[in-house]
Amino acid sequence: MVETGKLIGVTVLGATGSVGMNTLDVLARHRDRYRVVALTANTNAERLFACCREHRPEVAVLGEADAAARLQERLRTAGIATRVLNGPEGLETAARLPEADYVMAAIVGAAGLLPTLAAVRAGKRVMLANKEALVMAGRIFMDEVVRHGAELLPIDSEHNAIFQCMPPRSIDGGLDRIGVERILLTASGGPFRTTPQADLEEVSPEQACAHPNWVMGRKISVDSATMMNKGLEVIEACWLFRTTPDRVRVVLHPQSTIHSMVEYVDGSILAHLAAPDMRVPIAHALAWPGRMRSGADSLDIVATGRLDFEAPDLERFPCLGLAYRAIEAGGTAAAILNAANEVAVQAFLERRLAFTEIPRVIESTLDSVALHEADALETVLADDAQARAVAVRMISRRTSRAAP
Ligand code: NAD
Ligand code: MG
Repeated sequence: MVETGKLIGVTVLGATGSVGMNTLDVLARHRDRYRVVALTANTNAERLFACCREHRPEVAVLGEADAAARLQERLRTAGIATRVLNGPEGLETAARLPEADYVMAAIVGAAGLLPTLAAVRAGKRVMLANKEALVMAGRIFMDEVVRHGAELLPIDSEHNAIFQCMPPRSIDGGLDRIGVERILLTASGGPFRTTPQADLEEVSPEQACAHPNWVMGRKISVDSATMMNKGLEVIEACWLFRTTPDRVRVVLHPQSTIHSMVEYVDGSILAHLAAPDMRVPIAHALAWPGRMRSGADSLDIVATGRLDFEAPDLERFPCLGLAYRAIEAGGTAAAILNAANEVAVQAFLERRLAFTEIPRVIESTLDSVALHEADALETVLADDAQARAVAVRMISRRTSRAAP
């Protein structure tokens, strides 16, 4: 097995999602360089089975034990030797497998925190799509990256763009050391950038998920429509690039052609441009510091024609303002913001909450849950749980009030 020994082992957490499937697409183009070690999903056993048939991982993980047992049986019948694990322990085992050199962290939401941290603690190259993990526990996360010598590469397209616009291996000491004045974080403005504000009350999950430039999972699509996604990304940028929110400027750029920019003290601004295709940052993180083909179309700059920029409207997008409030408050505020947002978005997707109520639920949750220092994981998880309970109560109160 000399040849296999040369291949880079890759585990994909959240393999059945939008980022996960894009990662498998890139990996399938480079079977001479990578092999898939483990794949995880929550409930989509059908898709996980298909991924196992194609990529033959050593380990697969599903959320529920019964579903995992059924998948194990199905794989055995199909002659596929993958071992199926389940639950949170299964995810952490998959994240730590010694056969994997790289771990793609592409679970959505707080559920990704512990498995992603397990990969960090195992000293892997962690390719981070799961921004919620960093929003919840940024300090702990970044300390563990240093302590365990993990290699952290951003997958979020903006953060990957920023990383690419900075000098190699230079982000550890903060922006000043490399002469960076500020980060310009671009945002498309989502599907409701120009929708009359009065119409937002009635928008449906389908409308919110119809992003003009990107095809993504439902949660991040709603976050893009409220612009909470950009708020989470400001927090993510502060942790990843060791800076403060006053040096991260959000710029609306409806074409999503520039994925972000870095402004230097001499007045230079470097921008990263590409087609809006997640395979670009995924291939970058896999091949870094080299380059390889991603499968994305090359960007036709002439067809692009024009690039527009404007300042974001905080009245139209109150979630962005709430994210800034959480950053300024510090401690567990970002974890509370994230938890309330996850609960509110889920309720909106299940048609139990109006789109415009999402920021109201988050704001009331921030008002009512006490903040703590975010230096221990138990504290972060406790405040996350409390914020969820408060948000759930608020939503059920609103729903019962709205009922005829
Ligand atoms: P998605 O909903 O398409 O996929 C989520 C994946 O996580 C699935 O494989 C699902 O099975 C798994 N999952 C969900 N809940 C889980 C749980 N409780 N336990 C274990 N596994 C669970 O999401 P996505 O759009 O691929 O986004 C994934 C992450 O990447 C998010 O944090 C998102 O913010 C970030 N991200 C996504 C994109 C994008 O283009 N989709 C871009 C930038 C960042
Ligand atoms: Mg992004």
